[in-house]
Amino acid sequence: LEPLTVNSRRFRDNFESLAKIGDTGDGGVHRPALGDSHLAARRWYQERIVEDGFEFITDGAGNHSARLPAKDYNAKTILLGSHLDSVPNGGRFDGALGVLAACEVLATVRDAGLDLPVHLEAIDFTDEEGTLVGLLGSRALAGQLKPEDLQNPRGGRDRLLEGLERAGLTEEGLFTARRSTDLFKAFLEMHIEQGPRLLEAGSDIGIVGTLVGIGSLEITFVGRSDHAGTTPMDSRLDAGLGAADFILEARKLVRREFSGCVCNTGRAALEPGVLNIVPARAVLGVEFRSPAEEQLEDLGLGLVRQAEKSAERYGLQILVEDLGRIPTSPCSKRVQGAFGVACRNLGLKSISMSSGAGHDTMAMARICPAGMIFIPSSGGSHSPSEFAGWKDCVNGANVLLQATLELALE
Ligand SMILES: [Zn+2]
Repeated sequence: LEPLTVNSRRFRDNFESLAKIGDTGDGGVHRPALGDSHLAARRWYQERIVEDGFEFITDGAGNHSARLPAKDYNAKTILLGSHLDSVPNGGRFDGALGVLAACEVLATVRDAGLDLPVHLEAIDFTDEEGTLVGLLGSRALAGQLKPEDLQNPRGGRDRLLEGLERAGLTEEGLFTARRSTDLFKAFLEMHIEQGPRLLEAGSDIGIVGTLVGIGSLEITFVGRSDHAGTTPMDSRLDAGLGAADFILEARKLVRREFSGCVCNTGRAALEPGVLNIVPARAVLGVEFRSPAEEQLEDLGLGLVRQAEKSAERYGLQILVEDLGRIPTSPCSKRVQGAFGVACRNLGLKSISMSSGAGHDTMAMARICPAGMIFIPSSGGSHSPSEFAGWKDCVNGANVLLQATLELALE
């Protein structure tokens, strides 16, 4: 008996239609969370759901879902999904593919006339990428979002409030998205790998064992503004020098003492930001990641210590603000097992791997058995050159489908 498989043509048509929304003209999409093109993609998904005859669900965090109910109203839900937002000028596969694969699973189950003892739900989580807060929709749904997360979010508080208003959402409303954890049988996500390991291993599917923990810091070096022409080089308190020193030393620190970890200074601003004034302040946005919880803490402390050293070297003061921490997230063994069975049934080669990227699975893993798979991708990610072959996309959707059936029927 051949295993049930998704409709590749329908899946692809949906994918191509969605990729036109926020199209950057070079293969990518620009859909930062709750911006105009993201809101358009959300409307597209909502219309798709309604036209396809699924139940449409939304919540106070703006998450959008297609629902295929079981006969038994009290059945548990297997939630599938990912996100439709992108980083600025991102790729068309990241997130979007997972939402459409989830939707395709529902359509395939319905077309086959299967009567499953679980509700199926295909969700688009709001602001996964962190344009505003990061994992906003999934953390709200999982009850992991805290009021303080909204006070000094990654993208700045003003942008968050503007975005919520554009989408007709409110801060208080976000917390109403929380759902009772015992309603979920499992959460499954399919995503592109965004790295080279599957292609290098010649593997079709990566089954994720753990997702890295992520910390972020804002480090401000404080010096003194001076006339850039009349102040001798040796008597300046140039905040930019501390920042530059930190960026270089942080890289050395990670490579020397934190194997398997990464750090990135992705934002830097010199103030007052004028060519003829020595910078009085340098503000850095720093992110760091580790697959092990204790190591993540140590790395955070190590980076702060390094910032202190860099400041001291140039006679500066520092201010450190913790912008939040996402702990490491082990995936459910049961869900990993279901993915493994699915790959075997479909004759696909799989490997186990950790995820260096953050995903909505992180939030869901706190409240129910959760897991995710990767499909091979090339051309990097968070860029228009991000690419996945269609056969791999279909393989991923089929694994998602088969694992869903496996978990639903156990
Ligand atoms: Zn993603």
